[in-house]
This record gives sequence, structure tokens and C-alpha cells, in this order.
Amino acid sequence: SDFTDFYLKRELLMGIYEKGYEKPSPIQEKTVPIALFGRDILARAKNGTGKTAAFIIPTLEKVDSKKECIQALILVPTRELALQTSHVCKEIGKHLNVEVMVTTGGTSLKDDIMRLYKPVHILVGTPGRVLDLVDKNVADLSKCQMMVMDEADKLLSPEFVPLIEKCISCLPKGRQILLFSATFPVTVKDFRDKHLTNPYEINL
Ligand code: AMP
Repeated sequence: SDFTDFYLKRELLMGIYEKGYEKPSPIQEKTVPIALFGRDILARAKNGTGKTAAFIIPTLEKVDSKKECIQALILVPTRELALQTSHVCKEIGKHLNVEVMVTTGGTSLKDDIMRLYKPVHILVGTPGRVLDLVDKNVADLSKCQMMVMDEADKLLSPEFVPLIEKCISCLPKGRQILLFSATFPVTVKDFRDKHLTNPYEINL
């Protein structure tokens, strides 16, 4: 298949090609159309399969830069991964007017609060800091229709689970969740049963 098969915005397609991607990888081929359709996804995928772009492409397609609100929340377990993920998002989305913000522990909370005075469309972060911003009423998730969880096996650690569930409770009805994980431990299965709606499951 080809990226043109997804009927993406022209600016998004340009970003994909400029990044040097010629054809969708197998995980992108499977997940992108289903994510665009709006269905929840549970994907077992390792690093190196192109999983980051598999959730970044539908996220960028769905974000409307004219709406000044957080429209996608990408949760990851570490600051390092948050930075990498936002970098991919900014590169692929460079022709779209999309504002991507990284927020993680170990940095100034005050600076993050200041940055949220300007419109942010996509928030990439670790659960604790995201929840700090939600609790302080600076990050409004009430119009955020999309949540991505990357490295969900690491993300769903006992200390993170209550924070993630609190984030989910702030999302609007009908929100879509895309969950990517290298392994499917019981924590991931429990989470699926509790929070995902008729998820499309893929194993690669
Ligand atoms: P990931 O699995 O997201 O860590 O991606 C692994 C590597 O594959 C990264 O260097 C990506 O930039 C690259 N990549 C992702 N999708 C494609 C694609 N469709 N074609 C070529 N390279 C890709």
C-alpha cells in the first residue's frame, strides 16, 4: 500500500515524505486506517516497527489547528521517550500549524504552566506531570478526543495506573484510545477490559 491510500491532508503527506518514509510499514498499514476511522486500538509492537508514526499520523490528521484546545494526549513512561515522540510529531507535522508540547517530571512546573497560556494541540508527557497540570486547571482535557499510550507495559506500573485513570476520567465521552505495548502482561489486559471499547487488536 501507499501513504496516499489514507487520504491524508496534503501538508501531512508532505511531512511524511520529507521524513523519508516512502511506504507505510506493516503496523502503519494496519493501524492508520482503523485509527482514522475512530476505533480503539491495542497493538503489540516493538521498537523499530514504525509504531511511533503509526499513532502520530492519525493524531496529526485528526487535530484541527484552528481549534485552540488540547485535542490529543500522548502518554509515555519516560522523559526521554516524550522528547523523542514530540520530535517525530513536530517533524512529520511541520507543514501543519500544530502546537506540540512536552511535559514531564524533572523540569519546572511553572514553565509548563506558562507554556499552556498559549494554545497547545498535542500534549506529550508522563502521567504524573500531566495530572499536575490537570489538577491545577491549566491543562483542559475536556475536548481531548484522543489518547495514545506508548510502551503501555511500562506505563501501566502500579504507581502510574491511578494517575492514568484520573486522566481518562477528564476526557470527553466517545474518546478514542490507542495503546501500544511490546508485551501484553495482565496489567495491559486489565486496562483493556476496563477502558477500551471494542478494540482492534493487532500483533506484529
Ligand atoms: P519506531 O518503531 O517508531 O521506533 O521507528 C523505527 C524507525 O523507523 C524510526 O527511525 C522511524 O523514523 C522509521 N520509520 C517509521 N516509519 C517508517 C516508514 N514508513 N518508512 C521508513 N522508515 C520508517
